[in-house]
Amino acid sequence: VIPFDEARTFVLDACPVLPPQVVPIDEALGCVAAASVTATEPVPPFPNSSVDGYALRSVDSAGASGPQNPVRLEVIGTILAGARPCVRVGPGQASRIMTGGPLPQGADAVCMLEDCKDEADGTVVAIDRPIVRGTAVRPAGQDVEVGQTVLEAGSVVTPAHIGALANQGRTGVDVRPRLRIGVLSTGDELVSGAGRLPPGKIRDANRHTLLALVRREGWDPIDLGVVADDETTLGRVLDEAATQCDAIVTSGGVSVGDRDVVKVVLQQKSAGTMRWMQVAIRPAKPFAFGLLARTGTPVFGLPGNPVSAMVSFELFVRPAGRLLSGHVELERPLIPAIAEAGFRRGRDGKVYFLRAFLRLDRDGTWRVRPMLGQESDQLLAMAESNALAIVPNGDGVRAGDPLSVMLTDVDRLGLEENQLEGVLE
Ligand code: AMP
Ligand code: MG
Repeated sequence: VIPFDEARTFVLDACPVLPPQVVPIDEALGCVAAASVTATEPVPPFPNSSVDGYALRSVDSAGASGPQNPVRLEVIGTILAGARPCVRVGPGQASRIMTGGPLPQGADAVCMLEDCKDEADGTVVAIDRPIVRGTAVRPAGQDVEVGQTVLEAGSVVTPAHIGALANQGRTGVDVRPRLRIGVLSTGDELVSGAGRLPPGKIRDANRHTLLALVRREGWDPIDLGVVADDETTLGRVLDEAATQCDAIVTSGGVSVGDRDVVKVVLQQKSAGTMRWMQVAIRPAKPFAFGLLARTGTPVFGLPGNPVSAMVSFELFVRPAGRLLSGHVELERPLIPAIAEAGFRRGRDGKVYFLRAFLRLDRDGTWRVRPMLGQESDQLLAMAESNALAIVPNGDGVRAGDPLSVMLTDVDRLGLEENQLEGVLE
């Protein structure tokens, strides 16, 4: 039995960052930028109006002092968004202008429609009050100036980055490519799909859970199907998968049973880089990891019990996959919480990752309670949880005691109802 840190370090040390690749910007969401991008065009490219109104010379409006004593300007035309700038606003003149329309020469401010009045069939506009220079004008480069960094190497591409790249006329971006992860289940007992279960068989849950976990990380899942507990077949499937995957995740077959073939095949195919481990954690004690000798493809041999497979994914595949993808932050933040009920366990030298529900209390305290089913086959208790509570070796944690929690389902954080009430007022 080896400590968790040793197992984790072994895995991470073996995983190289994927080489960079230029991908279409619309496929780059969530990828890590491999190179910085510098702006070559100002955004906006020209000064333009931020409102619908009248472009004018601010000096001309200086004499206005209320609706009783407005300044009247001659309207010389209308500038729509997308129009080629051609009019010139002279003294005593104004041009109607729509949002996004290029500010005409001569003008230095825009009076919004709501603050002025059309007169004489729209040939004259009455301005009620002085309009300060620059009002409602978006200068060229207000968003981005030439030379500014649009995307920094190492940062994660967000939707706003993608728009900012499009603003530069970029169609592609240099990133660490999206990971393609192959997922397969092993086990003679497994049946996939619908239909009556033959005696002694069970349904394959893991492949679907693991495909979903891969997708949730933003990676591309590749379904490699169910493989029988047969060394030849498994070897062939791994070899084939290595040609189209950056990493492979298997479940089952890494324990000490008679037909645990994953660790055997991995041993044969990894030229001695494979390590079969008993990790001092619960669940997910058995685990195998190695690189396929021919392609260098990392293979993660996760345990077969559904909860163990998920926890093993969380603790090994997720950080390793993030490393392969070029992320610097590999771990989920650990949240200090207070136990709402006891987390029971015995003293056995292992670290427990107990299925739990984490919520943020109104008083700002993180509170966590254990789910009822803590056996490694109790997948539904996992489905109801949103976190793994870390309970170190010892006699457990009592209600009211502090403990560290890994929030595994960020979208299902327990918040007090109507948390935004009051905040938004
Ligand atoms: P193993 O590590 O292959 O001995 O599997 C451990 C336990 O997990 C056994 O009870 C298996 O039947 C079960 N198991 C293995 N693979 C799956 C799977 N894909 N879906 C559901 N249960 C599984
Ligand atoms: Mg098995």
